[in-house]
Amino acid sequence: MTERFDVIVIGGGIVGATAACALGEAGLDVALVEARSAVSSEAKPGRDPRVFAVTRASERILRSLQAWDAMPPEDVFAFTDMEVWDAGGGGALHFDCAELGEPYLGHIIEPRIILAALMNRLGSVSRVTLLRPARFREIYIAADEAVVELEDDRALHARLVVAADGVRSPVRAALGINTREHDYRQSSLVALVRTAESHRHTAWQRFLPGGPLAFLPLEANWCSIVWTRPTAEVERLLTLDKETFHAELGAAFDFRLGEITDSGEREAWPLQRRHAERYVIARAALIGDAAHAIHPLAGQGVNLGLLDAATLAQVVLEARAHGRDFGSLRSLRRFERWRRGDNSLMMSAMDGINTLFSNAGTPLQTARVMGMGMVNRTAVVRHLLMRHAMGLSGDLPDLARAPVSPE
Ligand SMILES: Cc1cc2nc3c(=O)[nH]c(=O)nc-3n(C[C@H](O)[C@H](O)[C@H](O)COP(=O)(O)OP(=O)(O)OC[C@H]3O[C@@H](n4cnc5c(N)ncnc54)[C@H](O)[C@@H]3O)c2cc1C
Repeated sequence: MTERFDVIVIGGGIVGATAACALGEAGLDVALVEARSAVSSEAKPGRDPRVFAVTRASERILRSLQAWDAMPPEDVFAFTDMEVWDAGGGGALHFDCAELGEPYLGHIIEPRIILAALMNRLGSVSRVTLLRPARFREIYIAADEAVVELEDDRALHARLVVAADGVRSPVRAALGINTREHDYRQSSLVALVRTAESHRHTAWQRFLPGGPLAFLPLEANWCSIVWTRPTAEVERLLTLDKETFHAELGAAFDFRLGEITDSGEREAWPLQRRHAERYVIARAALIGDAAHAIHPLAGQGVNLGLLDAATLAQVVLEARAHGRDFGSLRSLRRFERWRRGDNSLMMSAMDGINTLFSNAGTPLQTARVMGMGMVNRTAVVRHLLMRHAMGLSGDLPDLARAPVSPE
């Protein structure tokens, strides 16, 4: 069986679904191929332990695609402040949205809530054909089209294939695109925890010698924690009984929100940096974690992926509007030039911060205290960092610039 589309997106995670939505809404015929049969744990009660910090730029993209309002308000948690401090030397930073005249800095949301909203929205974009469950097997690149073969023997033809199939990206491997990798030898432990005191709608991050510990605010006194430590340490933390875990976590967090009074299941995520050497070849482009996997310490991974999706859609649509072949290498290079530099910069910044704060040596400790003090005292620098964390700096695609209501 042979089917023809303008674009085939492989991977129906948040990034792939966003790309399919943006392209389909603009009138292209899109196939979205996803291996899983339904949004994972769609029907599962309770919250996932892992949540995402979603920037204002991502919010704009999701609002522009009419997916934001499909999320139940009780599952979307705005945070207004950020507290960052260094366990090793007394340096501290405070960011407050009011300083920028903004109502909040960003939101904390479970991935499955964002994905369900996108899938719900895709249901009304008639130009998108959702093939699920369907698994990518092989890709063949010809001069004027790409052919994707699925495991059920279907063959899909299109002028462009978008790989949004995650960090291990079978499409990237099939295209022979190499990655540069670095094993951080760290893992992130994630869990829902309840604290004695209110989180005050603040995202908290304490830098400890083994890695950062973040508390991301949800309802009432609940937070989702991301506790990054050397992998063997995380494995030990997974085995602790609740009482010991609460005591160790409370101490690591300097009891900023009082005692830890309850917690849910704990999960561990091993951390690796991975960056594709190229984002594009003729007829194919990589976006999201298929192109770049980044340290989660600033919660930027999916946010960068959404910017990739919005940028690629804009580049493709502008090429089409000018009568050019949007799957040609020439057209796609514009996407690579636009996104690769920004993503590289963010990856280097995360590595720099991770190294700076994971090192207990005295000169680095002094530099941290001085640097954080300087930033905290200098409004211009602080505002610059806040805008960066909100995703509002740099060369944004149109979908991330669109006016948002209400803001
Ligand atoms: C501990 C931790 C905390 C994080 N916190 C944040 C945060 O706060 N903010 C943030 O922005 N980012 C965060 N991230 C990063 C974020 O998880 C990723 O950047 C994001 O999930 C990548 O989305 P994606 O759509 O590119 O890939 P994925 O979510 O991996 O989606 C890939 C999709 O492709 C499908 N697929 C795979 N193979 C095939 C195939 N052969 N055929 C068809 N389909 C296939 C999969 O089923 C999947 O649905 C965090 C990461 C970690 C580890």
